[in-house]
Amino acid sequence: MTKPRDFDSLKQMVASGDIDTVLVCFVDMQGRLVGKRFHAVNFVETSFKETHCCNYLLATDLEMATPPGYASTSWEKGYGDYIMAPDLSTIRPVPWLEGTAMVLCDILDHHTHEPVIHAPRAILKKQIARLAALGFEAKMATELEFFLFEKTMDEIRKGGFSNLEPISGYNEDYSILQTTKEESILRPIRNHLFAAGLPIENSKGEAEAGQEELNIRYAPALDCADYHSIAKHAIKEISWQQGHAVTFLPKWHKDRVGSSSHVHQSLWVGDEPAFLDASRPHGMSELMEHYMAGLIKYAPDYTYFLAPYVNSYKRFAKGTFAPTKTVWSVDNRTAGFRLCAEGTKGIRVECRIGGSDLNPYLAQAAMLAAGIKGIEDGLALAPATTGDVYEDAKATDIPQNLRSATEALRGSSFLRAALGDDVVDHYTRAAEWEQEEFDRAVTDWEIARGFERA
Ligand code: ADP
Repeated sequence: MTKPRDFDSLKQMVASGDIDTVLVCFVDMQGRLVGKRFHAVNFVETSFKETHCCNYLLATDLEMATPPGYASTSWEKGYGDYIMAPDLSTIRPVPWLEGTAMVLCDILDHHTHEPVIHAPRAILKKQIARLAALGFEAKMATELEFFLFEKTMDEIRKGGFSNLEPISGYNEDYSILQTTKEESILRPIRNHLFAAGLPIENSKGEAEAGQEELNIRYAPALDCADYHSIAKHAIKEISWQQGHAVTFLPKWHKDRVGSSSHVHQSLWVGDEPAFLDASRPHGMSELMEHYMAGLIKYAPDYTYFLAPYVNSYKRFAKGTFAPTKTVWSVDNRTAGFRLCAEGTKGIRVECRIGGSDLNPYLAQAAMLAAGIKGIEDGLALAPATTGDVYEDAKATDIPQNLRSATEALRGSSFLRAALGDDVVDHYTRAAEWEQEEFDRAVTDWEIARGFERA
């Protein structure tokens, strides 16, 4: 993988003129990279210590609105500044942009210089530290699914997002023929991300026309979340460079399969897989059973962090591979949680509930918190389910829409204890706002249905 990966090599590349721009970024509530483009000389001389941003960036929505109701910031409080503190261990090249490097920042309070607790990276770091105190490290992988379209994003926007045509004409699941036709987009995505230091495994066609998946090798949880955010951003930029729109909306058409982001999880002590115990059923250690029992028990509480928008819930439907039940199974894709690689060093649990719109920091933090709770309380794991889980009437449902996920989040004493009241209140407000905005909208469906006939 190419340099620069550390501050000294960045300085050398700035001195030699190879790098002239540094993207100084952090991840917002929606999982997007936001920040500033620095002249590289300024960055290596002074701004590597800190820069500043308006604190509404962690209290806004996809439209950059200024919703009321957040305790952390508001018009009354004057929307002050946060400190963006570059984490120099995240320096990496951005090979798809000329002369450019990138660094991710942590967000600190302007006055106290303490971490802002509702910043997604801080939320994940807190759960990683809790797990470390128990003696474990989490390794995770998040799959990225998305759709590519024939036209550019600007053409689609100007056309009112109508008549969307995916880049391929048929279901391209594992298709080599169709994905060859898309190599002008996917090959630079794989190669540029690899050169940026992301351990790219593969891309593949997915089970719908125009649908793709990118897999990145599992890594410590914080790295995994950083990789996900950078990869999602790169996929959008490289698709744009190649003249095609891409969407991570979980459900862009009612008759098309949705896009997910499955999260693979395992705990380790050094290089030893703490989820493996070959002497027990499925080769699962007791620790893994407790962790999975926590994941399953608290799934309704944290569904919001796997499905944060109104649209996210349109993906959950019978017979679509998108699960709706909080049960586990062995290598069965209809359950919310799937045991993978049983009895081997690669033993892990895959959560299949999350959509392609999840914020990986929040999703991983919430699931770590649930797993930790399972371990701390020694929760027992129910037997695996078999067969078609969609038809299993006894299994618990996850919330079926944003309203009920919001209420589950608001009322979750487990999440309040693990993440803190301020964090839960902050994201509950984000969820409420999303619903309020949707409730104000008049949709195409209502017009078409009722315009003449109501
Ligand atoms: P599948 O073919 O079922 O999608 P893969 O072998 O492609 O499974 O693995 C899916 C993801 O799981 C990959 O990103 C991989 O790096 C990750 N993974 C493999 N082993 C582990 C592990 N022990 N913990 C977490 N993730 C893992």
